[in-house]
Amino acid sequence: MPEQISFSPSRGLHIITWGCQMNVYDSARMADVLRPLGYSPVDLPDNADMIILNTCHIRERAAEKVFSELGRLRQIREARKLEGKATLIAVAGCVAQAEGKELLARAPYVDLVLGPQTYHRLPEMVARIARAGGNVIDTDFPVESKFDLLPEEAAPQNEGNLTAFLTIQEGCDKFCSFCVVPYTRGAETSRPVESILAEAERLVASGVKEITLLGQNVNAYHGDWKDGTASLPKLAAILHETIPDLKRLRYITSHPRDMEQALIDAHRDNPIFMPYLHLPVQSGSDKVLKAMNRGHTADEYRDIIRRLRAVRSDIALTSDFIVGHPGETDEDFEATMQLVRDIRFASAYSFKYSQRPGTPAAGQPFQVAEDVKEKRLAVLQALLREQQDAFNASLVGTVQDILVTGIGRKPGQLNGRSPYLQPVHFDGDPSLIGQIIRVHITAPFTNSLGGHLYEQEGTAV
Ligand code: SAM
Ligand code: SF4
Repeated sequence: MPEQISFSPSRGLHIITWGCQMNVYDSARMADVLRPLGYSPVDLPDNADMIILNTCHIRERAAEKVFSELGRLRQIREARKLEGKATLIAVAGCVAQAEGKELLARAPYVDLVLGPQTYHRLPEMVARIARAGGNVIDTDFPVESKFDLLPEEAAPQNEGNLTAFLTIQEGCDKFCSFCVVPYTRGAETSRPVESILAEAERLVASGVKEITLLGQNVNAYHGDWKDGTASLPKLAAILHETIPDLKRLRYITSHPRDMEQALIDAHRDNPIFMPYLHLPVQSGSDKVLKAMNRGHTADEYRDIIRRLRAVRSDIALTSDFIVGHPGETDEDFEATMQLVRDIRFASAYSFKYSQRPGTPAAGQPFQVAEDVKEKRLAVLQALLREQQDAFNASLVGTVQDILVTGIGRKPGQLNGRSPYLQPVHFDGDPSLIGQIIRVHITAPFTNSLGGHLYEQEGTAV
């Protein structure tokens, strides 16, 4: 740094994470990379020697949001400077990848700009700035894999170290008309099985009971294994056979095109697969699905769900929807509503189509008016909310296996996670944290469930 200010030997690190679970995972790994340099997490940016903004580019005004947050961080840095303390400001993630140069031109006070594939080089970047000042931009798609170079001791990311994300696949070759991911995260690649296994073993040895495998197209996974490759169901079987203390497995985000029968069957055959699947469909209209370049029809999606329910009748299904893709008519929207009525989702995310510069849909004629998108979104969300409420209510009176994840907000209360990924609250002793216990579900809430400990048949305690 050019000024007469210095870093303390033990350094504060504050990471602000926007966007998907992959960003949550990346933020945790950036903290891992920086730990050997003396950086440890602090709650407030005001106490941080380094602040990283890990950004998401998926929907509109991404860059504007970044600049407004950077304005706030700049003020924090100025205030710290008056106290003789230096602060490095870094922008990471997909906005950095897509708009790195423009970002530095508009906010030259940013020290580091790095993409999702280069954060293993963070120590080098920090050292370069310490040596020579100025700023560093590194948004390559490097030949080396960051996974080979990240530190081994990956820390669990949440819920008292009992649950963790683990990235197994990155990038996307599908080029949906609306999506920036193929441009910001690059081509589809899978991590070798050995490297995933080693990370999963370390996580479980540190107490993790439930792992969510991550990828932009996680079910397109095909990682090196022995003399060939392993698919996602094979990887899941290897994890189950090799790590007996791994109790629960999930994966996100899947594409309908890669939902092969072997994976569907694994929901019956692999006992650690939770009865939960997030399978984005985006639209129920064949015309819109074609315009989106999704590569399947609405009936093909219905057929996948029918086959999933045939092997695992209680599977909870969630999805993503986009309303107002260019060319979407009232009739197309009604086809989406019909698909939702037919499938019945446990929950879902739904978005207004947002024009992303550089994507094929952005240049298409027949963009849907903003007020039409808003109306359609409200109608769709009302139906999805009804279905979510109905799903939560359907569990009342049942007994569920709950992974106890921590202390609740009310005195005596514990928090847990249901097989269907719902938060569950119930009274119990903190010694239960980390165990999978039986809970009698008694109350449905919008985003969670309430219940009582259940000891044996007929006895709620
Ligand atoms: N790979 C996943 C798939 O194919 O379904 C989705 C990954 S994307 C990061 C997450 C969700 O963001 C998408 O499923 C889509 O619903 C939404 N999304 C992506 N681009 C969008 C856009 N331009 N406008 C609105 N929503 C968008
Ligand atoms: Fe984006 Fe489509 Fe790839 Fe999903 S499959 S990341 S929506 S391009």
